[in-house]
Amino acid sequence: MALTPMMQQYLEIKNQHPDALLMFRLGDFYELFFDDAVTASKVLDITLTGRDAGSQGRVPMCGVPFHAAEQYIDRLVDQGFCVAICEQLEDPKQTKGLVKRDVVRIVTPGTTLRDEGSAHRILAAVVQRRGGYGIGMGDVSTGDTWYAEVAGDGLRELLSQWTPAEVLVYDSQYEHPDFQAIVDWCKDNGSRLGRLPEGRHASQAAYENLYRQFAVTSLVPLGLDTSPIAAEALGLMLSYVEETQRQHLVHMRTPKNVASRGYLVVDYTAQRNLELIESSRGRQKKGSLYGLLDATETAMGSRLLRAWIERPLADKAAIDERLDGVATLVEDVFLRESLRELLRDVYDLDRLAGRISFGTANARDLRAIGQSLSKLPRIVELLSPTSSDLLRSTVSRIPDFSELVSEIDHYIVDQPPLGLKEGGLIRPGADAELDRLRSMNTSAKEWLANLEQRERERTGIRSLKIGYNKVFGYYIEVSKANVHLVPAEYERRQTLASSERYTLPELKVQEANILNAEERSLEREYELFCELRDKTLQRLRDIQLASECIAAIDALCAMATVSIRFNYTRPTIRNERGIHIVQGRHPVVEAASPGTFVPNDVSLGEDSDLMLITGPNMAGKSTYMRQTALIVLMAHIGCFVPAREAVVGLVDRIFTRIGASDDLSAGQSTFMVEMVELAQILRQATDRSLVLLDEIGRGTSTYDGMSIAEAVMEALLEPGRRPLTLFATHYHELTAKAEALEGAANYSVLVRETEEGISFLHTVVPRPADKSYGIQVAKLAGIPESVIARATELLQVRETASSALENEHHVREAAAAEEPVEDAPLPLFHWKQEALLQQLANTRVETLTPLMAINLLDELVQQAKEVVSWGKSKSFPTS
Ligand code: ATP
Repeated sequence: MALTPMMQQYLEIKNQHPDALLMFRLGDFYELFFDDAVTASKVLDITLTGRDAGSQGRVPMCGVPFHAAEQYIDRLVDQGFCVAICEQLEDPKQTKGLVKRDVVRIVTPGTTLRDEGSAHRILAAVVQRRGGYGIGMGDVSTGDTWYAEVAGDGLRELLSQWTPAEVLVYDSQYEHPDFQAIVDWCKDNGSRLGRLPEGRHASQAAYENLYRQFAVTSLVPLGLDTSPIAAEALGLMLSYVEETQRQHLVHMRTPKNVASRGYLVVDYTAQRNLELIESSRGRQKKGSLYGLLDATETAMGSRLLRAWIERPLADKAAIDERLDGVATLVEDVFLRESLRELLRDVYDLDRLAGRISFGTANARDLRAIGQSLSKLPRIVELLSPTSSDLLRSTVSRIPDFSELVSEIDHYIVDQPPLGLKEGGLIRPGADAELDRLRSMNTSAKEWLANLEQRERERTGIRSLKIGYNKVFGYYIEVSKANVHLVPAEYERRQTLASSERYTLPELKVQEANILNAEERSLEREYELFCELRDKTLQRLRDIQLASECIAAIDALCAMATVSIRFNYTRPTIRNERGIHIVQGRHPVVEAASPGTFVPNDVSLGEDSDLMLITGPNMAGKSTYMRQTALIVLMAHIGCFVPAREAVVGLVDRIFTRIGASDDLSAGQSTFMVEMVELAQILRQATDRSLVLLDEIGRGTSTYDGMSIAEAVMEALLEPGRRPLTLFATHYHELTAKAEALEGAANYSVLVRETEEGISFLHTVVPRPADKSYGIQVAKLAGIPESVIARATELLQVRETASSALENEHHVREAAAAEEPVEDAPLPLFHWKQEALLQQLANTRVETLTPLMAINLLDELVQQAKEVVSWGKSKSFPTS
């Protein structure tokens, strides 16, 4: 026996989609077969069964009910699979033989339309040409598209920043060594890497795609003529969207350039270190700057605010415009609160527009659009008279939707059902034809009720009743006991155990009327709905434009709301370099425990370009540095800042080298990551950059680390480079250097030392710290008393040794000035010798247990061996 016809159909379709799991609609189920079934049953944890396929006998099968399919599809897509949805294209009831089927949609990680709230789900395509990369990205549900052209380094950076759920590359470029970075990135981040065939004229085909999508005839109107590689990537991305969605999507928007030009650059490392979008612990929005500022009321406002934080402005006029907008909203509480109340009722217009474009919008979506658009005139009215140019020009771009709003309101009921074919969508009185059909229906039902009454009276059968079923239509039911009373003109239709069912000629006529009226009224409702949906579709671009305007108003309103809540001030933006902050605070730390934060000043760019910050652990050095960067960044997005006063000169980039992080998957240790980041800063920072360096050189031996830190400090102060730098360190030795270097200044964070230990004052003062208090902090942290005592002992030894060394050093330097000594001993080993002697001298034998004595002896012998062997190799004087 050959394969069953249905199996043949399945295999034909499956062959066209070898890379996707094929969900094949069979009645009320989607079924998967063969390997797809085995995979899906494992991933979804559902039973694997089998089905007779003809010549192949039973083949593996598993299935999910169609009404619950979305959640299963989501789970498969989350695991990185693509799912091809194959539907029945004909009604099985009205078809003889095999029902026509085909794939109507392919769901992939980058194109799933699941509601992500205020986050974007990104699909990206990357193309390499002439050594540069073009990247095209899109969010299919909102229709946003973005692009950039970057060099190699920038690509990983962009991917990390945008975290696409799926990245597409040409099959021919996949193997290229330069693409290894993308392959690795996808692997590390759980993103799907899709490979697409590169045709003979791939670039041209991609451009044609763009032209078709945006109805243009060249790249010029899209501003893409100067970014041809990115244009190709965009075209490739859009062709994949069309291929997977199986339709032309009209809601895709004009692409925006997201390359760093024109923005204050905050690379991914800085974004992470400053916790701009997510907290470093838990990687959550809460605890980040975005989490703090996001007092938006709409999803599109929230998405835009995030984009502003990721790409702050670099132009004074544009920043001042935003600040004016925020100021207007800060000053006028009535205006702000009225706007927020209106915005609260505005739904995610981008996603609704997407659903209109996909043809998947239902009556609830139309109502949501109507309700959202109905708020616009009041928003325009409120903002038109304000003094802010930005707010005024934004509302002046909002189109008029009064006709569409009143039509939606006229037709769609207040609380429409989800389904479209079961009626109940259209208001009574909205359409004369529908009303007529509905009243026919109602009057026919009244007629039935009258008939029932009449027949009961005529026959004397009080239990006679009229009923309906799908097979026999309307009938008159009489119980067996009363059958003898039935008049002769009754025609028998059906016999049941306890009753008989009849019909009458006039009932048959009326039955046709009723059924017709009902069917036609449902059809009419659907027709009216579709007309309205088409009308809405025609206003799609306008809806998207309104959505952009609403997003901007919402984001400004959020910044104003937070500024009021936490008492922020308007910063002064200057074209000249320099940062001057009076009583600055860390916005997120402050918000976490209100009222306890100690404010501090910052001054960079006038007397000094480098602030060397010393002070104990836990004093607040990192917080101070981060708050400075956050204030500078907030000023650049046009937000008020947590400070009493802030004058911020435009900055071109914020660099950070903070904390320990290793990139083991890329084969880099903690120290290596630190040095790579440092190298980048030294190569790229300009006099307009803000640089945060926290504990440079901590990951290696003290002398290596200290030497690196000192050399970096010198390099950063070289003329011509001189970025504005905050440099926190525990190497107190560097404070003398900072004293000596022109352009550097010493600062420290105060602590109070008492009998019980130390308490942190968190106040930054313009002088170096005297010591590190590491042991006191270790004590606070609960390190056992015995370890603390021993550490204190060792510290004393070292301090004495090093002061002895310093003395010696001065004597030697003085001597060297008079008469240079050849082969001068290395200070490091001299120090070791001194330390050994000191340790011996300090040992109180009476306090040692036998075990401690043995350990100490062992340690001393080791140290002595080191000193002796180095003494020999370096002619170290042993006496
Ligand atoms: P380490 O050298 O150990 O890295 P640090 O000097 O960088 O320490 P931070 O991590 O900045 O110290 O701060 C330590 C703690 O002190 C933080 O938990 C923070 O909440 C609190 N803190 C820092 N600065 C302030 C401040 N100005 N006001 C109130 N609390 C502060």
